[in-house]
Amino acid sequence: MMPGIADNLARIREAMAAACLRAGRSPESVQLVAVSKRVPVSRIQEAVAAGQRHFGENYLQEARNKIKAVAGPVIWHFIGHLQSNKAREAAALFSVVETVERRSVAQRLHQALAAEGRRLEILVQINIGGEPQKSGVLPEAASELLAGLATFPTLVVRGLMTIPPAADQPEASRPHFRALADLAADLIRQGLLPAKDCQLSMGMSADFSIAIEEGATLVRVGTALFGCRR
Ligand SMILES: *Cc1c(COP(=O)(O)O)cnc(C)c1O
Repeated sequence: MMPGIADNLARIREAMAAACLRAGRSPESVQLVAVSKRVPVSRIQEAVAAGQRHFGENYLQEARNKIKAVAGPVIWHFIGHLQSNKAREAAALFSVVETVERRSVAQRLHQALAAEGRRLEILVQINIGGEPQKSGVLPEAASELLAGLATFPTLVVRGLMTIPPAADQPEASRPHFRALADLAADLIRQGLLPAKDCQLSMGMSADFSIAIEEGATLVRVGTALFGCRR
């Protein structure tokens, strides 16, 4: 039998609260983003019924039908690789786009939003480990990108997102999470990120507790909530 989603959710929320306690943070300072890629609508609906609000999807083609089908007060985050030619649809479907990494894509988002007189919350994805094949802007290029984004008034820059290098041990992610928090602090000092409620999206099933200890405000959890993806 599949594990009950409500049980998994309760366990994850407990672990999140424990990590907050260890870090001297309020439990309300961290949101769980349920990563629902390749998870059917019925299981997503189960999570909604159990009180989950934030969901993350990676693929537009998959997300467009699911977003229509899921009922309830759900906030959708786009967490996949975003191409310029998909920016218009991403802006239409999602409340938050966590993976902005190029000015050209941001410009497309802005054009789509300006035409509709809307705004969109975004995060800038940082390639914190400086990996050659990884999405995200390099830490040293973040200030230039953010300065450019300031010219797009429809884009509400809320903070940073990262996926650290793959590791066998969750503890191996800690220095990368700390580096993202340090980078955000630096960018806040430069006036390029908001000082109030700056968001750090970091931590997945294996390492979300460590991410919270290092300052995460959004943790993106898939497997621990929905089970293994096929
Ligand atoms: C799939 C995915 C996750 C969730 O990973 P799990 O290990 O299943 O929790 C989080 N963030 C991103 C960007 C993902 O693609």
